[in-house]
Amino acid sequence: MGRFFINTKFICSICGNVDSAYVGYKNGQPYCRRCIMFRGQEASNNYVITEKADYQLAYKLSDDQKRLSAKLLRNYLKGIDSLVHAVCGSGKTEICLEVIAHCINNGLRVGFAVPRKDVVLELTYHFKNIFKNNKVIAVYGGNSNRLEGDLIVLTTHQLYRYNQYFDLLIMDEIDAFPYRGNTILEAFFYRSIKKNFVLMTATPTPKLIKQFKQPSRDILELYSRFHQHPLPVPNIICGNLLYLNYKLVSETSRLLRQFKPILIFVPTIDLSKKVYRFLSIFFSHGNYINSKSEQRQMIIKRFRSKKYRYLVTTAVLERGVTIRDLQVIVYLSDHSIYDAHSLIQIAGRVGRKKDAPGGEVIFLAKHKNQETQRAIKEINAANQKL
Ligand SMILES: [Zn+2]
Repeated sequence: MGRFFINTKFICSICGNVDSAYVGYKNGQPYCRRCIMFRGQEASNNYVITEKADYQLAYKLSDDQKRLSAKLLRNYLKGIDSLVHAVCGSGKTEICLEVIAHCINNGLRVGFAVPRKDVVLELTYHFKNIFKNNKVIAVYGGNSNRLEGDLIVLTTHQLYRYNQYFDLLIMDEIDAFPYRGNTILEAFFYRSIKKNFVLMTATPTPKLIKQFKQPSRDILELYSRFHQHPLPVPNIICGNLLYLNYKLVSETSRLLRQFKPILIFVPTIDLSKKVYRFLSIFFSHGNYINSKSEQRQMIIKRFRSKKYRYLVTTAVLERGVTIRDLQVIVYLSDHSIYDAHSLIQIAGRVGRKKDAPGGEVIFLAKHKNQETQRAIKEINAANQKL
């Protein structure tokens, strides 16, 4: 029996692996070692959507957003997969609402996948506020007891729990770690789709664009931000740690004198506390926040209402926070946790309000590394298309 299997080409039904180097044998039966850590309960097909999606937005979509929103729905109805090429801050989540609502209202299964857990949490919060009648659930490592709902927001790592499941699967940040270049996650993505998908990215590769140049696929471009203003180009300040600390204080002081709220991004949880303690020697009315902060929502609320003038944060606030007149400092922007993609996301925090589109983004770095330079190059390229 064993020989029979060895001579037969093995194809993993879960991840599509055919490489015999990743095939193990147990009692003469082959099994895949490539995707072995992705095992667990899978979603059943019993869930029934009962509530209609009745969503209301507190703001109006731009003409571009309305046009693309209608196009996404049209594509879906025709069975066409879409690639949305959108710059940061152009409101690409909003353009999906119409097609999501269509699916929920027709009892179809919708998923929204992103690579990182933090983003799952933020999106879930955001969607719960929009689809108030519906069951919006978050699925990520450590939170996978409930796998079904009207709208499932999940990490790409959890897609293996859904086999031929989604009538519509939307995936954002396809160029972010850990999805980018990960063939197992990519296999799970395609395996989870029953009908159609939408991919969203600010930086599509030529390969991806080529994949979408075929009749059953379509590329939608959303270049302008809500208000047609360019993304702020970060200003990089380089030097040794002593100099960077001095600049951190002097730049914070300068921005505070303009009465503008400041977010100071730091690469680690440990640094969020340390940098805040350091700044609090000079400036009152600040705080710090990280993924372990228990009162995260309250701290954000206080920052919004200007009770705090500045907030030191880890990447937890990389997306999703929109505050008028916000200015951003990235402390140690050349740290390895940041890639071009996350730096662009951070820069995209600034100038998101229509009546206050300006703002500064300051990178404090020991060196001008490749990712920092790529981020600036891509921001400039996106601004050229406005
Ligand atoms: Zn496998």
